[in-house]
Amino acid sequence: GHGRGRYRRALVKLSGEALMGSRPFGIDPVTLNDLARQIKQAVDEGVQVAVSVGGGNFWRGATVAETGMDRATADYAGMLGTIMNALALQDALEKRGAVVRTQTALPIAQVAEPYIRRRAIRHLEKGRVVIFAAGTGNPFMTTDTAGALRAIETDCEVLLMAKNGVDGVYDADPAKVPGAKKFEHVTHIEAIQRRLQVMDITALSMCMEHHMPIVVFDVAAPDAVYRALRGDTIGTLVSA
Ligand code: UDP
Repeated sequence: GHGRGRYRRALVKLSGEALMGSRPFGIDPVTLNDLARQIKQAVDEGVQVAVSVGGGNFWRGATVAETGMDRATADYAGMLGTIMNALALQDALEKRGAVVRTQTALPIAQVAEPYIRRRAIRHLEKGRVVIFAAGTGNPFMTTDTAGALRAIETDCEVLLMAKNGVDGVYDADPAKVPGAKKFEHVTHIEAIQRRLQVMDITALSMCMEHHMPIVVFDVAAPDAVYRALRGDTIGTLVSA
């Protein structure tokens, strides 16, 4: 990976926004199909691919809670949003001939498998794409943390953080600070200490603790997900 050849097994974190394309809400089918094409291409080349899918294109618990709704309840509703995205991605991948299993952290037996670690690993070994939905199954957490957790427990080599509107990790917000500098590489601890925008701190500290490298890249760049899975040097590498 990261310039040293393709990954054996990788987890891609796809936020809800990544599926939205330029729409204000929901899923853009053209964007969805393009992401499915890229994932299928990497699978065909031998990469074992897991996906942690977000739900911010439908619902964000913290934002909804600002309107007065109980936060934990709002978060459970947010987890359901991630399942909608997972089903859409599953369908798009299957239409391209990929074999897919969706596993949810909240059981919803008629719709998807429950999360079972050893079964997920087995699917990956067989070349099936495994989509992890419903985050961690706990409120007050994020699908970034679910991505970190699943990447670690299913023994992925890397966590590929697909970002919207930014192509890596900068020393300041490039949208606000002209001349903000992009890192080629940064350590986990420096990213935490400097509060760099990689992912939420729970997820990031978990990756540090368990030596999980992260690649932060722009999901909208042509073939970005495929290139990230192939191990091209793109975006910013966050590692020890
Ligand atoms: N969520 C949660 N626990 C989790 C993962 C997600 O409660 O482990 C809820 C939370 O309300 C969150 C929503 O699901 O706002 C959508 O997930 P997230 O914000 O991570 O999606 P993304 O920003 O990646 O689209």
